[in-house]
Amino acid sequence: MNKNFSEISMELKSGQTSCKTLVDGYLKNIESKKNLNAFITVFDKEKLAKRSEFVDSKINSKSAGKLAGLVVAAKDAIVVRDERNTSGSKILENYISPYDATVIERLEKEDAIIIGKANMDEFAMGSSNENSAYGNVLNPLDTSRVPGGSSGGSVVAVAAGMSTVALGSETGGSVRLPASFCGVVGLKPTYGRISRYGLSAFASSFDQIGPIGNNVEDTALLTEIIAGLDTLDSTCADVPVPHYKDHLNKSVKGLRIGIPKEYFGQGLDKEIESSIRSTMDKLSREGAEIVDVSLPNTEYGIATYYILVTAEASSNLARYDGIRYTHRSQEAKTIAETYVKSRSEAFGEEVKRRIMLGTYVLSAGYYEAYYKKAQKVRTLIKNDFVNVFSKNIDCLLAPTSPTVAFKFGEKTKDPLSMYLSDVYTVNINIAGNPALSVPCGTNSENMPIGIQVISKAFDETMCFRVGHAIEKLV
Ligand code: GLN
Repeated sequence: MNKNFSEISMELKSGQTSCKTLVDGYLKNIESKKNLNAFITVFDKEKLAKRSEFVDSKINSKSAGKLAGLVVAAKDAIVVRDERNTSGSKILENYISPYDATVIERLEKEDAIIIGKANMDEFAMGSSNENSAYGNVLNPLDTSRVPGGSSGGSVVAVAAGMSTVALGSETGGSVRLPASFCGVVGLKPTYGRISRYGLSAFASSFDQIGPIGNNVEDTALLTEIIAGLDTLDSTCADVPVPHYKDHLNKSVKGLRIGIPKEYFGQGLDKEIESSIRSTMDKLSREGAEIVDVSLPNTEYGIATYYILVTAEASSNLARYDGIRYTHRSQEAKTIAETYVKSRSEAFGEEVKRRIMLGTYVLSAGYYEAYYKKAQKVRTLIKNDFVNVFSKNIDCLLAPTSPTVAFKFGEKTKDPLSMYLSDVYTVNINIAGNPALSVPCGTNSENMPIGIQVISKAFDETMCFRVGHAIEKLV
């Protein structure tokens, strides 16, 4: 099932297959790989059949959109009209969205078919998908290992042939980390590149929807369709969206690729390091210039990230009060009890931990010491990237994760060690730059390794171009 969309599209146009057949195939796969727990909701069969037949008729009458027959899994934090949106939480267990997210609207306008809503860590908080109220998602390559999080369901849908592509979301690595753990491609776009309208909020100054595919071409196509100005999201930027495909086959010759030394220190698995270095050598043989660079404030990333996102989360999650949305405690007798009991019953441990942390760093006595200071460090980290890109550097290369996919339970007892899984991803979210994780090899246990291509703000083109070169070389 793991074909490129361009091949699938050709087969659809020539009548070799139909959307109906395609969707039925994916549904069969979803059923037979149920143990992976990639979906929270698979859409109604009849509804999908109707939609497929509608797109088939448009293909037949040659009036179909650019994504006709592209089957998409959406993270369960991206709302689809008349469908359930849980965000991986019990508090939204029965919430049905009355509207479509902008990204969904844009995909459907081009005749894509949304097949269902993918499992995820509760409110996108997690690195392993062990924080979902709907159970763990398993890594299809080794079911004793985590798929990575928080967009684990979306990534597994793509990796295990349950959809052609998927949408995840990132606050600190939630698309790139699982992409690297499962051997697929995932983009964290520039902050403001893709509308957040209809994405459940975790930390609004970080959140971005991220496209996931089996290859760079599909990921680039998906990005191109959903990116660009949206008046329903005031943080969405008015920057033209290029036709990425035109740039994929450009050579890397003459590009100056920076290697940030801080991403190769203590804690990086040796096999990952050697795989990354061998990818660098291959690019250098193609004529790219490999340059050592430094992002001196890297070490402050994790601390800064976990202060800022918990602060924003504590505020964003205040809307789940037992009055609106779904879960309301049956035990509560007063309004105050309704708030407290509903939230206590329906939020998971990690979400509670973050609400408490966030409330603490925003409290009058600690605001200056934590939140305000973290905002200042955010500027320093952002400036590291601005400085490095001002020196004629086209992109940076770094490992996506310090380790390959780890085993279930390995880090759940120690939140700090879990947070450190994001050590190579969070700074890019803090700075707002785009980064693409691409598979670059496997380790001795045959688990995939991901490399990330980081570029200037709004230069996703560079990520795709270099990512595509890597894909061909490895
Ligand atoms: N693992 C990180 C966290 O738990 C990133 C999550 C994300 O990108 N949504 O916050």
